[in-house]
Amino acid sequence: MTGDPVVESVETAAYKVPTDAPEGDGTLAWDATTLVLARVKAAGTEGIGWTYGSAASAAVITHELTPVVQGRPALDVPGTSEAMLRAVRNVTRPGVAGYAVSALDIALWDLKAKLLGLPLFRLLGAVRDEVPVYGSGGFTPYTDDQLRAQLTGWAMEQRIPRVKIKIGESWGGDVARDLARMRQAREVVGGDVELYVDANGGYGRKQAIRVMNAAAADGLDVRWFEEPVSSDDLDGLREVRDAVASDVAAGEYGWDLYYFRRMCAAGAVDCLQADASRCGGITEWLRAAAVAASFGLELSGHCAPHLHAHAAAAVPNFRHLEWFHDHVRIESMFFDGTLDPTGGAIRPAPDRPGLGLEFRAADAEPYRVR
Ligand SMILES: [Mg+2]
Repeated sequence: MTGDPVVESVETAAYKVPTDAPEGDGTLAWDATTLVLARVKAAGTEGIGWTYGSAASAAVITHELTPVVQGRPALDVPGTSEAMLRAVRNVTRPGVAGYAVSALDIALWDLKAKLLGLPLFRLLGAVRDEVPVYGSGGFTPYTDDQLRAQLTGWAMEQRIPRVKIKIGESWGGDVARDLARMRQAREVVGGDVELYVDANGGYGRKQAIRVMNAAAADGLDVRWFEEPVSSDDLDGLREVRDAVASDVAAGEYGWDLYYFRRMCAAGAVDCLQADASRCGGITEWLRAAAVAASFGLELSGHCAPHLHAHAAAAVPNFRHLEWFHDHVRIESMFFDGTLDPTGGAIRPAPDRPGLGLEFRAADAEPYRVR
């Protein structure tokens, strides 16, 4: 790299990938996942980033953000990120526009690290070389056999010592099945694997407490209770947190630092979650980690594990990444350089610049929707 390269081009595309089986959780069902890709170029080098959400984020990248990013110094990522956030004021940051900013911010970090010939975790400054993960899926439409196969894959074949399943089925309308599936999960993984559950906001406050009391009475030792009630109900999260032995976690929808601060300040969580593909990219995810640290809390990365791996290696108060079935599958379909979670941790490659990934455009093309 010579001189001070500027971002020469921005490209985007969206890909809709059918799930490998019907998927759902306490409050939503889906049969496909859309990945919105952002590509930025400077000095003959390309950076890539992405988000999962609506293809509408690709339109925001094209119409609102490309004019902001093009021509800016490629090394000044936080400056460009700030300019993008200012540019979407009237489009509003939460949601589609924030996801678009996130994808581009990550592409810019990938580009910068590649321009400097460094893996991103070295550019950010690593505090660890292994990033713990937990297996995540256990969707409510799965049959007993499907759930067993998935949990066995993580806990026995890959030896990941933490697994998470979805509960809160039908907005808390089938607690008996939730508990039966939790019992099955514990039985499949044995006593030494940490069992996590995610209700995706499907329960009421007292209902969530009753479910966890019933699980405790069955000796299920649930360590992590994610979104027992809506993430917007900070008082409710606090009420559940005060009543159960499991760690209560939330934060996946967070879109700015005020959101994360409100959640922490309310005493709503034992561990904060944040998603770099939603909250403003790696720039803001690192700052969310600092917010959590200021409250004595750890940060867990939500979904999209290959977007978070390098940033996670640079966060002192980091707990783990979500090895989410859907996204693991899509990332291994679309990218070379994906990581191996065997043993329960991933190790960002020290010999590959940037995020260490290469996009396989030809493999993605059949799924392209924009
Ligand atoms: Mg969740």
